[in-house]
Amino acid sequence: MKLKDTGLTKEELKAKAKKYIIETYERFDFVAESAKDMYIYDETGTGYLDFYAGIAVNSAGNCNEKVVAAVKDQVMDIIHTFNYPYTIPQVLLAEKICTATRMDKIFFQNSGTEANEAMIKMARKYGVDHYSPEKYQIITAKMSFHGRTFGSMSATGQPMNACQIGFGGMTPGFVYADFNDLCSFEDAVTENTIAIMVEPVQGEGGVIPATFEFMTGLRKLCDDKGLLLLLDEVQTGWGRTGAVMSYMNYGIKPDIVSMAKAMGGGMPIGAICARKEVAKVFTPGSHGTTYGGHPVSCAASLAQITELLDRDLAGNAKKLGNYFMDKLKNLPHVKEVRGQGLLVGVEFDDQIKGIDVKHGCFDRKLLITSIGAHTIRMVPPLILTEDDCDKAYEIIKETLESLI
Ligand SMILES: *Cc1c(COP(=O)(O)O)cnc(C)c1O
Repeated sequence: MKLKDTGLTKEELKAKAKKYIIETYERFDFVAESAKDMYIYDETGTGYLDFYAGIAVNSAGNCNEKVVAAVKDQVMDIIHTFNYPYTIPQVLLAEKICTATRMDKIFFQNSGTEANEAMIKMARKYGVDHYSPEKYQIITAKMSFHGRTFGSMSATGQPMNACQIGFGGMTPGFVYADFNDLCSFEDAVTENTIAIMVEPVQGEGGVIPATFEFMTGLRKLCDDKGLLLLLDEVQTGWGRTGAVMSYMNYGIKPDIVSMAKAMGGGMPIGAICARKEVAKVFTPGSHGTTYGGHPVSCAASLAQITELLDRDLAGNAKKLGNYFMDKLKNLPHVKEVRGQGLLVGVEFDDQIKGIDVKHGCFDRKLLITSIGAHTIRMVPPLILTEDDCDKAYEIIKETLESLI
C-alpha cells in the first residue's frame, strides 16, 4: 500500500496510529513504504540505509526477489490448510534446514518466542518422561533475552527488566547463572536440572558473544551431567554470525536449537531442531499450532535459506563483520566494539547515550538500534558491501561529532 493511494497525509496517518494502536514501541518518525536490498524508502521516496534489517530478519536483503517470487507463487496455489495434509514447501524446507544445521528433526512455529516455548516444553517433557516429575529445571543466563510469552519471559534472566515487571509471578522452573562464567553454571546444577539454555551471542544483553571456553565448557558440562544443551539462535542463526548457525563457530552441536528471525526472509516463521532421541517426546497431542509450518512462510523460508546458502552470505557476514568492527574501533568515545559476524555492538563511554546516536543516525538516513544506556546495535542485511560499511561509519562518526 502506498500513502498517496489512501488520500492521507503522513501526519494524518500518524494521528490515526496514535488514536488506535496500543503503542509499546518507540517509533522512528518515518513511514516505511517500500524497501529493496540495503534501503528502506519513505512515502517521498527518500532512502534510508538499513542497518537493522527488521531486527536481524531481512538477511538476504529487503524484499529479496527470490523470496518475493516464492511468496507470490505460493499464495496463488494454497495459503493455509493446517497440518493435517502434507504441504510441499514445508517438507522441502524441513529437509533443507535439517541438512544445513546437521540436526535430525524439526518442528515449525511462527516466531522466536514460540520456538523457545517449544524448546522449553520439549526439554521439560524429556526430563519428566525419562527421569522424574520434578526434573524440569532449566538454567538460563542473566541478561539473556528469550521472548515475550510466559515461558520465554521466565527464561529471560532479567528479573528487574520491563519485560517481566508488573506481570505477576513468572513460570517456575528457571534459575539464572552468570553468562560466560562456567563455574556459575556448574554451581547452579541440581538433581532437578534437565537443561541449560543460552544465546550464543547475547543480543538484547548488549551484544556479548559467548567465549569459546564457555560454550565448549557448557557442552561438556551437559554431557557429563546428562543435561540437554538448548541454544536460542533466534537472532544468531542463519548466517548472521559468520557461520550457518553460531554453534558451528564453536565446533559444537546443541540438543535442541531454536530459530526464527532471518529464516523467513521477512515472513513470520520459527522452528526448533532437535536430536532424534529428544524429539521423540513430542507425540500427537503433546504440542501443536494452527499456523506453524504455514505454506507461504515455508515457501519464503525455503527461498531465503537457499539464497543464504547458495550465495554464502554467512561467509560475507564473517568477512564484512571483521572489516566493519575493525573500522568502528576508530570512532571517538568508543569503549568497546563487540560482535560475531554482522551482529555488531558498539559501547560508548559515559558521555554518549546510545539513543542519541540512534536518533542522530536516523536524521542522517541511517537506521540502527540502541540497547542499554550507551550501546548501539547493528544487524544489517548480510548482502552488504565494504562501501555500505564505509557509508554507515561516516554517518555514525558525523553523528558522534555533532553530539560532543
Ligand atoms: C528476537 C528474539 C526472540 C523473540 O523472537 P520473536 O520472534 O520476537 O518472538 C527470542 N530470542 C532471541 C535471542 C531474540 O533475539
